[in-house]
Amino acid sequence: MSDAVKRSRREDEAGDSEVIPAKKAKRMCRYRAAWAVEFPWSSKTADDEFAANCLLCRQTLSVASGGRSDLLRHAETEHHSAQVVPELWKWV
Ligand SMILES: [Zn+2]
Repeated sequence: MSDAVKRSRREDEAGDSEVIPAKKAKRMCRYRAAWAVEFPWSSKTADDEFAANCLLCRQTLSVASGGRSDLLRHAETEHHSAQVVPELWKWV
């Protein structure tokens, strides 16, 4: 077994939803703590590990199907963009 294979296995076990196997495994993406750093407007929800709170829109969005790409997609929505004011955005 090559090192590359071993490495991707480990990431997979760590719950990295971006590592999508060649065969399309259908699985739910949990909100990851790292996303709170990458997307400071997001936070985990109290009761749903497959969802994220948007602190700007004050709404909950599901990350179950797309994971990080769900957050990226949300960030591009008009509603979200309208909340992004420079005063709030300086801590990004
Ligand atoms: Zn938002």
